[in-house]
Formats: sequence, C-alpha cells, structure tokens
Amino acid sequence: MNTLLHVCCAPCSIMCVESLRLEGVEPSGLFDNPNIHPFTEYRARRDALIDYARGAGMELEVAGEYGLRRFVEAVSADLRFGNRCRTCYALRAEAAAAFAAANGFSSFTTTLLISPYQNHELLRQEMEQAAGRHAVEFLYRDFRPLFREGQRRAREMGLYMQKYCGCVFSEEERYNKVK
Ligand code: SF4
Repeated sequence: MNTLLHVCCAPCSIMCVESLRLEGVEPSGLFDNPNIHPFTEYRARRDALIDYARGAGMELEVAGEYGLRRFVEAVSADLRFGNRCRTCYALRAEAAAAFAAANGFSSFTTTLLISPYQNHELLRQEMEQAAGRHAVEFLYRDFRPLFREGQRRAREMGLYMQKYCGCVFSEEERYNKVK
C-alpha cells in the first residue's frame, strides 16, 4: 500500500513507522505542522525528524513554508481560541490529504494517533473529513498502546524530545502551572 504518514515529530514516528511496516505498509513521511511555536522549536522538531527519517530509511517531504501566519489566521477566527485544537487538526488533515491526493498516495495517516494527549476522536473526525474532500483513504490506526515504548526508544536514541504540544497556548499551559 502506498501510504503517506503525516508526522508531528520524530519520537512519535518510531512506533508508527515500525507498526505500519509490520503490517506490510511502507510509509512516506510528510512534515507540515504550522502549529509549532516558536520557530526555533519548529526547527528543532523538524531537524530531529530529518535525522530520524534518514536513519530509518523513510522518505520524507518537509513543507516548504513554515505556515505561522496560516495557523494564526485560522485559529484566531475563533476569538476565544476555544476550538483551536479542532482547527489545528483540520489544518494538518487538509495538508496531509491534499498532499496525498496530489502525489498519488492511496491513503494517509498521522503520527498524532499515537499520542494519549491528543483528542483522538476529534482528530479522527477531522482526518476522515479531509480524506472525503480529497477522495483518498484515511488509514485509521489506534497507535496509542505503543506511545510509552516509542518515548522510551526515542530517549534511548537521543532524539530531541519536546516539552509541550506545539502552539504558544500549549506552551503557556505547560509552564504556567501553579506550583
Ligand atoms: S494544543 Fe496542540 S493540538 Fe491544540 S492547537 Fe495547540 S498545537 Fe494544536
């Protein structure tokens, strides 16, 4: 099967790639994550992924544009930012589905499905809707049982490990906790 794997970061990729390969699917990666702030954090995650993909022998496409303005414009349409995660999933789902359709992939999936910290069902809905718009299959997999093992392996490999989800709001939530 010719499957595009939307990738959020290197640590989350490890077990997704391994699991897909075990079922005979050879994924090609796409890094398109305008939600990651600030730019230096985006660059750290992107560069760690490039190194990981090279080592794992996975093809990888990196979006040419960072996309900060695209992200801010989309989430600020809701002035209280209450739906920001839905908007964030929708942006990345749209990018992945459009890329898959334009490049002849029969299906796509995402490493976001491995994280127990994401809203899994909302993510699935947005991915399926984007798949429908672009007439490409969304390959749903619940990778969450593999999350801890992936984190352990990432630490063992010395990969860059992020401390927050990605956007500046999640950075505030991570560090602005009452002690
Ligand atoms: S918390 Fe994570 S999923 Fe939600 S908007 Fe921020 S980066 Fe996107």
